[in-house]
Amino acid sequence: MTIVLSLARADGVPLILLPPLDALVLVRSTHYKFPLEHLKAGEVLLVDELGLDDPFERGSEYAVVTVVRGKAMLITPTCDLDQEDGVWAVWPWRPLEGSGLDVGNLNAGKFANLYRLPDHKYFDSVFIDVTDIRPVRPKQFPLRSRIASITREAENDVLERFHRAMGRVWGYEEGETVQPLGKYETGIFRCAQCNLYDVTVPQRSLQPGSPAPECDNCKKIGRSAQWYPLAKHRPQ
Ligand SMILES: [Zn+2]
Repeated sequence: MTIVLSLARADGVPLILLPPLDALVLVRSTHYKFPLEHLKAGEVLLVDELGLDDPFERGSEYAVVTVVRGKAMLITPTCDLDQEDGVWAVWPWRPLEGSGLDVGNLNAGKFANLYRLPDHKYFDSVFIDVTDIRPVRPKQFPLRSRIASITREAENDVLERFHRAMGRVWGYEEGETVQPLGKYETGIFRCAQCNLYDVTVPQRSLQPGSPAPECDNCKKIGRSAQWYPLAKHRPQ
């Protein structure tokens, strides 16, 4: 794909709609498709990186990317809010409309990584995906634009969901082949799913190369086993 594009000076950003691609679209000179040192007013080519012999040969390139402007929820701890440089993190809001989600289940908290925000004077019917964390620069997200704060109780709810979604313990499912042991691993495994419940946590000795077994407790309630390795007890 090659598109000739006229870059305006400082009076606007060209709007470019790209089809979904599995490659980057690079901005090159109209002559010989050379990489550009700086973007200046004038014509450029938009080129599929796979059609070039030398993409990124010099270490940097101008590329066209999709951006979205919208509302988001700031995640950064309050003690970092004074900083002007650096990077903050946000969860972009997503509209319920068109999401295809079952609203009843969303409101009931049934989706492990999704959180419905309560309707508000300035917004309604939105939710966040706590695994969809985006970096923003403080200047792009001025605190004077803030339209709502959450309660301490809601903050705990969101954080709990975040920890569960992002901090899940890894473990073998039933039938997965056990890999060679790590340096400090003992060959003894426990079921991480059972750790969450008031049951005796099963413990097994598993052989590398063999399939992980089912967990009797988990099987009773229709869950899958999650065997995580125990390491030697050692000082930190
Ligand atoms: Zn279990």
